[in-house]
Amino acid sequence: MNNALSDTYDDRVIIPDAQMNLFGLEPKDIIARQPAMPGVFFDAPDIELDYDIAVVCMSGGKDSLAALKYLLDRGFPASRIELWHHLVDGQEAAESFMDWPFIDDYCVKLAESLNMPLYFSWLKHGFKGEMLKHNSRSHSHMVGTPDGIVELTREAAKEATRRKFPQQAASLQTRWCSSALKIDVGRRAVTCQERFIDKKVLFVTGERREESSNRAKYNQLEPHSTDTVRKSAKPLKPRHVDAWRPVLHLSEEEVWQMLCDWRINPPVPYRLGWGRSSCQTCIFNGDRIWATIAHYWPERAQAISQYEEEFGTAISRNGKTVIERAAMAEPLDIDDELALRQASRNEYELPIFVPENQPWILPAGAYSGLSAGAS
Ligand code: SF4
Repeated sequence: MNNALSDTYDDRVIIPDAQMNLFGLEPKDIIARQPAMPGVFFDAPDIELDYDIAVVCMSGGKDSLAALKYLLDRGFPASRIELWHHLVDGQEAAESFMDWPFIDDYCVKLAESLNMPLYFSWLKHGFKGEMLKHNSRSHSHMVGTPDGIVELTREAAKEATRRKFPQQAASLQTRWCSSALKIDVGRRAVTCQERFIDKKVLFVTGERREESSNRAKYNQLEPHSTDTVRKSAKPLKPRHVDAWRPVLHLSEEEVWQMLCDWRINPPVPYRLGWGRSSCQTCIFNGDRIWATIAHYWPERAQAISQYEEEFGTAISRNGKTVIERAAMAEPLDIDDELALRQASRNEYELPIFVPENQPWILPAGAYSGLSAGAS
């Protein structure tokens, strides 16, 4: 299949098919009834790890770190693990709009310290580019590979207009950031690389059931949307890809214990008091988090609020802009000076692991429940 045909196939078949799965629909609901797909397990905390490659989606938060550790603890060779990180803001703009400025470099330093390859992938022009889409097509997918960056164009995608923030909803149709900036990008990163053909691939992500009623319903092991061997008896590109959520059943306490035992430094957002490590200006941030952003990084809150006013639609369903919401709450009192300084920098400068002569300290945001991050 040449590149243009492959792009068309991905935009017309692979992505819509996977989106149907995300909305609880399957092709059988629309076309014809097929036997249930094999390989689906609601509970699968321990599986046979006979995979050629494990792709670990590394957001830089505690749960994806725990998912990686869980895999290592079960004896999967580190030499067959690669880390993938989706750049929410893309790589084209100099300044972060949604994500923490240091998070990309944190992933680089983490991968270096673990001696694992790291590949970035992103939607060109990132969150802001997709949000500002106006009678135009989505931008290209950009995929880091062992041979360099591949640009996958979107000729088959329909022209559309967004000009609003993703809505705070479980549906990925309206909460478009998760699907457009992460899930679709990750999917195409698999389908565009010939190196996954005739391989058994484990696609690892760090969701936990405790996080939300939506995630409570997730399967722990299932064929990934890019799997072809269970979709066809004779796939043109045979690819066995399983999606595994190894920490789906774990509590927050168990995750922190894993990170403590590993002596990995708690990621900066938790040290600042965030309950979850997601985009800094995540659409799910609560009023207290917006008050904190407006207090310590006023330009970040202003940038979001200006677009809410321009679009005439706020992120919050109550219609208040993030600046108005910030005024309704007290900012967190951040006393971790090192984390605070790191939060404004692009380069990650703190140690990845806690030095042996220092205690591992539970961060301020642990168990805080302060809302931030996708549900
Ligand atoms: S962290 Fe929040 S804003 Fe960022 S992609 Fe996820 S839901 Fe969207």
